[in-house]
Amino acid sequence: MASSPRYLFVTGGVTSSLGKGIVSASLAKLLQARGYRVTIQKFDPYINIDPGTLNPYEHGECYVTEDGAETDLDLGHYERFLNVPTSQANNVTTGRIYEYVIKNERDGKYQGKTVQVIPHITDEIKRRICLLGETGNFDFVITELGGTVGDIESLPYIEAVRQLKYELGPHRSAVIHLTLVPYLKAAGELKTKPTQHSVKMLLESGVQPDILVCRTEYKLTREIRAKIALFCNLQSNAVIESIDADSIYDVPLLMKKEKLDRVVLNICKLPLKNEPELTEWNEFLNRLKNPQDEIQVGLVGKYVELQDAYKSILESFVHAGTENRLKVKVHSIHSEHITEENVFRLLSPLDGLLVAPGFGERGIEGKIIAVRFARENKIPFLGICLGMQMAVVEFGRNVLKLKDCTSTEFKKSAKNPVIALMEEQTKVRQMGGTMRLGAYPCEIQKDSKAFKAYKKTRISERHRHRFEFNNKYRQAFENAGMQFSGINPDADLVEIIEIHDHPFFLGCQFHPELKSTVEIPHPLFVAFVKACYDFKLLK
Ligand code: GLN
Repeated sequence: MASSPRYLFVTGGVTSSLGKGIVSASLAKLLQARGYRVTIQKFDPYINIDPGTLNPYEHGECYVTEDGAETDLDLGHYERFLNVPTSQANNVTTGRIYEYVIKNERDGKYQGKTVQVIPHITDEIKRRICLLGETGNFDFVITELGGTVGDIESLPYIEAVRQLKYELGPHRSAVIHLTLVPYLKAAGELKTKPTQHSVKMLLESGVQPDILVCRTEYKLTREIRAKIALFCNLQSNAVIESIDADSIYDVPLLMKKEKLDRVVLNICKLPLKNEPELTEWNEFLNRLKNPQDEIQVGLVGKYVELQDAYKSILESFVHAGTENRLKVKVHSIHSEHITEENVFRLLSPLDGLLVAPGFGERGIEGKIIAVRFARENKIPFLGICLGMQMAVVEFGRNVLKLKDCTSTEFKKSAKNPVIALMEEQTKVRQMGGTMRLGAYPCEIQKDSKAFKAYKKTRISERHRHRFEFNNKYRQAFENAGMQFSGINPDADLVEIIEIHDHPFFLGCQFHPELKSTVEIPHPLFVAFVKACYDFKLLK
């Protein structure tokens, strides 16, 4: 076991979207598979306190941890790869750093000193970087820095890394810099100059990277590696190729081939221990690549233009599909485009329908039409959060024939507010961090599809919403054939709804997609995918 934690920093150069999150998670996986205890944290240079108030078009999905932190979607990758939960401590933003420093200033903690970026902000960054390491729970703390080197807002972070590297001393830290090695078609060559420039930029801030991970579409030749090594002051084994992969789940194996974990352990003067134990991971990949059949699932949402907006849902389908030996082809359908006229054409080719979470009124009528189509045509349906709420509204309108039936999120004065605010939420004015967030228990009825999936009566799932099923309507809905198969035992809130007379119609107020991992695919997704396949075979 390592005597003191090692700190690995992952920075990005040249462009964004090079896959820092996946490389960090892959390295963590390899170290974990060698028997080390690893955690990953993400530091984001933007000024929002957390990504909770960000539109998904900005940074993609907002990932929620067990302790109710609204975080960057990279934390989702960390959990899916490592199967270890993260927490608020794993995601820090500039806004949070400044909020803390300014509060200290107001409380007189700086004793009359001028409060400055250096040392006050950088000290606070360093303190937060080391927090998880100080728990004694980890041999490695991997810190991924958001943004790209050279961004004005990244500067204090790079300076904090420089100081920490110095303060920790030799073998206690390593900087891993991700760059791009583009292929110029006209020249027929891979180009190293952007990488050289990016390293120069880091050097200007006093940081010499220890390892370069070079994203590329083509293999890096020995000459290219040597050239990059020479101009960036590195051993050529510290120049790691990160070639485009078919699946993000291939990346740990690609990094293993490139010996990234070995290079890190060498720098940190730690034993290699065993070879990475990746039997289960390999089995997963094998199943992923050799599906026996495929299903077509519709994902009805309003952020479908952006892949990242539904990241965890898409990954949950990969896990659940693999578990069922099926390829799940997800067809994104814009909820605003669904009408009574085109619903048959759009949805009838599908084997199942997932209605996505969301906020605000845009697109909800399309979601309701989609729910009705799935309910009436007995197409497997999974509604998540707003998706469940719209299933309740649809049932109220079309089965119970309730007039003016909706959620108070969209119409405060609705005659039949079947989805409404909980009492304590009615007083909330501030937007950030005030929803029902994080893990809550749920009690499952034995005679239900949920129980068949989970195989237990007590579960815990993560939430991110304000509105709830309005309990005044419970009896009427039950009488008409809706089952409330999952209930929060402490607050008597409806967490899961089902419809009896349907092969698979299930809505959940929580977000199952946040807990699906490679090792433990989420039971609801596994059951839903299976139901879709059964439906396909019957068609
Ligand atoms: N807008 C709904 C609510 O706040 C649903 C939220 C969600 O889908 N995450 O309750």
